[in-house]
Amino acid sequence: MKTVADYIRTIVDFPHEGIMFRDVTTLFADPRGFRMAIDQMLHPYAGLQIDKVVGLEARGFILGGAIAHQLSVGFVPIRKKGKLPGTTISQDYKLEYGEAIVEIHDDAITAGEKVLVVDDLLATGGTAEAGIKLLERLGGEIVSCAFVIDLPDLGGRKRLEAMGMDVHALCA
Ligand code: 5GP
Repeated sequence: MKTVADYIRTIVDFPHEGIMFRDVTTLFADPRGFRMAIDQMLHPYAGLQIDKVVGLEARGFILGGAIAHQLSVGFVPIRKKGKLPGTTISQDYKLEYGEAIVEIHDDAITAGEKVLVVDDLLATGGTAEAGIKLLERLGGEIVSCAFVIDLPDLGGRKRLEAMGMDVHALCA
């Protein structure tokens, strides 16, 4: 039987030479693969209270939307700067080259709400850390962070765990 990892392909030299890009569009496009990924991402949280699912742009929206639907809870996007129409709060973070900014609507989370953070891939953890900081500023209680892929050599899991986060991923 195929595993989730079997549905993910690697594209060499994208978006830059020397990068091995893990392409999850092949996982999302396959009905068995996509369902398997959503089911397995949800598995650790059976019986836990989750009030909102938060997805990180952009592939975290696809996964997070499906997970929120399955849990019958609301979905909240964290987006790159300038994309959200309402009043936002912002958080900057470092990229390999330069900096980026992510934003969330300032009324998207009510203080005390229990939140699951979702993205496709954990690398350095910079994106997830910035998202977590936004959620904590709004008073969200982060239950866990769920990813399809964890690239352990890039240190993201250690970085998030050092912040006190619970981290789950389906494959490396
Ligand atoms: P980090 O901030 O942990 O270094 O990078 C993770 C973010 O970059 C995630 O939002 C993820 O979607 C994106 N990302 C980085 N490398 C890859 C990759 O090889 N494949 C995919 N699908 N996303 C990546």
